[in-house]
This record gives sequence, structure tokens and C-alpha cells, in this order.
Amino acid sequence: MLGPVILAASRSDRMRRFVSAAPGTKQVVARFIAGETVDQVVPVIEDAAAKGLEVTLDVVGEDITTREQAFAARDAYLELIDRLKGLELGARAEMSVKLSMFGQALEGGHELALANVRPVVEAAAEIGTTVTLDAEDHTTLDSMFAIHEELRKDFPQTGCVIQAYLFRTEDDARRLAASGSRVRIVKGAYKEPASVAYQDKAEIDKAYVRVLKILLEGEGYPMIGSHDPRLIAVTQELARRAGRKLDEYEFQMLYGIRSEEHLRLAAEGHRMRVYTAYGTDWYGYFMRRLAEKPANLLFFVRSMITKN
Ligand SMILES: Cc1cc2nc3c(=O)[nH]c(=O)nc-3n(C[C@H](O)[C@H](O)[C@H](O)COP(=O)(O)OP(=O)(O)OC[C@H]3O[C@@H](n4cnc5c(N)ncnc54)[C@H](O)[C@@H]3O)c2cc1C
Repeated sequence: MLGPVILAASRSDRMRRFVSAAPGTKQVVARFIAGETVDQVVPVIEDAAAKGLEVTLDVVGEDITTREQAFAARDAYLELIDRLKGLELGARAEMSVKLSMFGQALEGGHELALANVRPVVEAAAEIGTTVTLDAEDHTTLDSMFAIHEELRKDFPQTGCVIQAYLFRTEDDARRLAASGSRVRIVKGAYKEPASVAYQDKAEIDKAYVRVLKILLEGEGYPMIGSHDPRLIAVTQELARRAGRKLDEYEFQMLYGIRSEEHLRLAAEGHRMRVYTAYGTDWYGYFMRRLAEKPANLLFFVRSMITKN
């Protein structure tokens, strides 16, 4: 029951100030956030590559309030891509972006977000890699899918994310699978009402498996975003039945979560991509990680008490 409370707190400015200033926060945040700057994340990328892992890089930040912040988000990704050029990892290091950080919720936000993300997608293509559009709360998704479709006209490798907890997702999966897209399937991390989303964990897992089938039997490239051991086993079985080779889909997990499993799957010959978040505006991302596993909150609270 704690999860929804933490997700509600992730929208509170007061809570943001409290959590950001709390002693001990930095240490807990460091488990999920790979660094604050490009300089700090580059060694993390190199280390992952040396271990046979791939990465998708997320400059953390969302819910911005000015156009200047949206331009700054675009520039932060361009700076990252500039640094990736020297590493020559190609598609082994791709980017994940949240369109809200590119201005999607501001006035004229759909066009603004498209105009800001396009140069990032272009720059990514120039160094042989691509961008995946993250899925945020359900009110943003029509705009996200429209931007995805628009970008795919010039950059067909552009990916997007669908969330198993939403009722709409099986239809989205069918459409995207038929169009041959790169699609990441996840359970979903936002607080959504019962009018649009399953609330029960078992229902969400069942929906996830239905979507997996659609994606694995379809024409696109499925990216399986989950740490759930049962869903990973189900994926392997469904991929085998669908006749998919190991390089015709990939697993994705978050930096700092089940790291030994990243290595195990890579050692089995799977493509394993680590979603690596970095930057200073980590609050929303961090709170969603706490909400997913309330034991993390306990650890967090304990670290605050011991530091006091
Ligand atoms: C690569 C990737 C990209 C994502 N992109 C999006 C996105 O664009 N939009 C979106 O809404 N959601 C996104 N998510 C988050 C996703 O929706 C889930 O909230 C998250 O993955 C937890 O679900 P799970 O499938 O891991 O299963 P769960 O049942 O939540 O977890 C299974 C097991 O994994 C471990 N685990 C899971 N989460 C944590 C945690 N925070 N801390 C410690 N252990 C944990 C635990 O051992 C848990 O028992 C993404 C997730 C991944 C892996």
C-alpha cells in the first residue's frame, strides 16, 4: 500500500525539498543514479561495455516549467552524444528520453517536444545509435506515440515504451508490432486511475505476458524491461516458440537493480541493456524506484536516522 503514497509524494514540491536536503539521501540515491555529470557517467558506460553489457542513457529530469529548461534538456543529450562519439560503442549505447523534459507539458508542448527531440535523434543516428521515448503518465501517451511515428519516418530505429498496466496497451502493441518498431515493454511506474489501468499486480503480470506474445510474434524488435524472474523465464520460452534468435530481442534492467542478473543473462548470450540514469534532477526517478520496492524506503529512512 506504500507504493501509491510514495508516487503521490513524487509530485510534491515540499517533499522534493525535504528529501533532497535530508542527510543520507545522497548515499541511497547513488544506488540508482550513476553520477551527476557526463564525466561521471562515462566510466560507468565503459565498465558496462567491458562486462558485455549495453546501456540506454537517461539524463534525469521531467516536469519542467520553462522553455529554457526544455532547450537545456536537449543540449544535455547533445553533450552526452558528443562524448559517446569518442567511445565508439554505436548501438551498444543508446539514449532514453522523457518528452516532458523536452517541453511536452508546456504551451504548444507537442511541437516543442518534437522540435527538441529531433536533433537528439539525428545526432544519435550520426554515431550509429538511436533513441527510445520513455512512457510517462497516460495523459501524455497520444502525443508520445504521434512523435514516435513522426520521428520514425526519417529514423525508423527510434523506439518507444508501452506499459502493461494500461488497458490500451495491447492495442498499442499490435499496432507497433505490425509496423516493425523497436518497443520496450514495462509494467508501468506511475500512479494511474482504475479507469485506465489494472491495479492488481497479478492482472498486470498477465497483461504483460499477453503483450510479450504480441511483440515476440510480431515484426518489430522487442525490448523486455523487467527485473521479474518469472517474466524473464516466460520471455525466454515465448521467444523460443516464436523462433526468435538471441539477438532478435533484448532484456533491459535498471542500473543498481539485480546487477548480478544483468551479468547472468549477458553470459547466457542475451543482449542485456542497462538503463543508466544520471544527472542532478533525480527526484522523480528516485521516488519511482522507492515506490516499486517499499523495502528501499525502509533503507532510506534508516540511513537518514543513522546520519542524524
Ligand atoms: C529498462 C527499464 C525501463 C523502464 N522504462 C519505463 C518507462 O518508460 N515508463 C514506465 O512507466 N516505467 C518504466 N520502467 C519501470 C517499470 O514500469 C517498473 O516500474 C519496474 O521495472 C519494476 O517492475 P518489474 O518488471 O521489475 O517487476 P517487479 O515485480 O516490480 O519487480 C521484480 C523484482 O525486481 C526487483 N526490483 C524491482 N524494482 C526494484 C526497485 N526499485 N528496487 C529494488 N529492487 C527492485 C525486486 O527484486 C522485485 O521483486 C522501466 C523499467 C526498466 C527495467
